[in-house]
Amino acid sequence: MHYKTFKDLKLSALGFGNMRLPVLVEDNSQFGGPVDASKAGKMNEYAYENGVNYFDTAYGYHSGDSELFTGRTLSRFPRNTWHVATKFPGYDLRLINDPPKTFNEQLRKLRVDYVDFYLMHNVSETNIDPYTDKGRGIVDYLLGQKKAGRIRHFGFSAHGRIDTIKRFLDFCGSEMEFAQIQLNSLDWFLQDAKGKYDLLTARGIPVWVMEPVRGGRLSSFGADNDAKLKALRPNESVSAWAFRWLETLPALGVVLSGMTTMEQVVDNIETFKAPDPLKPNEKELYESIVGELVDMIPCTACRYCCPECPKDIDIPTMLTLYNEARFVPGFVVLRAMSAIDPERHPSACVECGQCKDVCPQKIDVPECLKHFREILDKTPPMNL
Ligand code: SF4
Ligand code: SF4
Repeated sequence: MHYKTFKDLKLSALGFGNMRLPVLVEDNSQFGGPVDASKAGKMNEYAYENGVNYFDTAYGYHSGDSELFTGRTLSRFPRNTWHVATKFPGYDLRLINDPPKTFNEQLRKLRVDYVDFYLMHNVSETNIDPYTDKGRGIVDYLLGQKKAGRIRHFGFSAHGRIDTIKRFLDFCGSEMEFAQIQLNSLDWFLQDAKGKYDLLTARGIPVWVMEPVRGGRLSSFGADNDAKLKALRPNESVSAWAFRWLETLPALGVVLSGMTTMEQVVDNIETFKAPDPLKPNEKELYESIVGELVDMIPCTACRYCCPECPKDIDIPTMLTLYNEARFVPGFVVLRAMSAIDPERHPSACVECGQCKDVCPQKIDVPECLKHFREILDKTPPMNL
């Protein structure tokens, strides 16, 4: 295992994300059912014994069972040999009214009297108002806990848009010691992870990675493409390429992988024995293969179309979400849409074509919005 220096700490470059652990009962909720502690315990232990010292959980993971599992597992090892990260559940507006109750419950579940890394969970369009509400004082309360030594390092995670992250940073960026974003070769473009990475590094905030393999979507590209990768790196799995791509980024902190099987743990530990970033020719090949996964609408967010729209639809935002929805019509899209006035949804488009006429990229916006609306209509509702 190789390590990242963070202040006076050595953090394992691979962090164990306790969010996709094996489960006892499958359910279709966003964060999964109760943990199969027997299987998951062996996986966490193997990781620990092989040098992983960073374990990431959250209030909601596995419907609350992940924090309990993480606390039980880590308490078997000396407290000064591991770091635990958990998060304030601001993704769920029903849970944010009593920060002390939530935070104390988390300490109890984790069996600790301090949390090493504590994050504001998923800064996004739906919670940016309460997160930045001085009257509510969520950030102030948590800063107080840091002052009292019950939080060692304070940061945030975000699936939100870049303007939302900017707003959060303008509110409390000087207090943020690290930030966790969805970062991989696909989201570099699809979710503007590049813009987010640049924003954070420009402000001197180290970047932690989540979804490095995009929930497994970057672990295989079909027999032909996999063979091309294998030809260049015969001893590495296809998943390893996702990590090797990340290693080309200079300001990278801990990479969190939500591992579900022991095979994934073993493979990832092998990959993280030493960094070996992709060489330019490898990177070029890899990015071209990843690029085949989704046929991106090439909106440059120039906004020339926006003043033309009689329905005041935020067209570039809609096209960004449309790109994501065509790949995975999941909670990222639904949450972002829930924060947008329904009068400005794709369903409001009257197909006047005025946007299309001025678009330098010649994007058929009304057609995209029509298709986006069909995807949204077919996507089952989620508990956001
Ligand atoms: S086609 Fe739709 S999105 Fe484009 S300007 Fe007209 S109403 Fe707005
Ligand atoms: S004019 Fe075209 S490229 Fe520019 S924001 Fe609108 S859709 Fe995107």
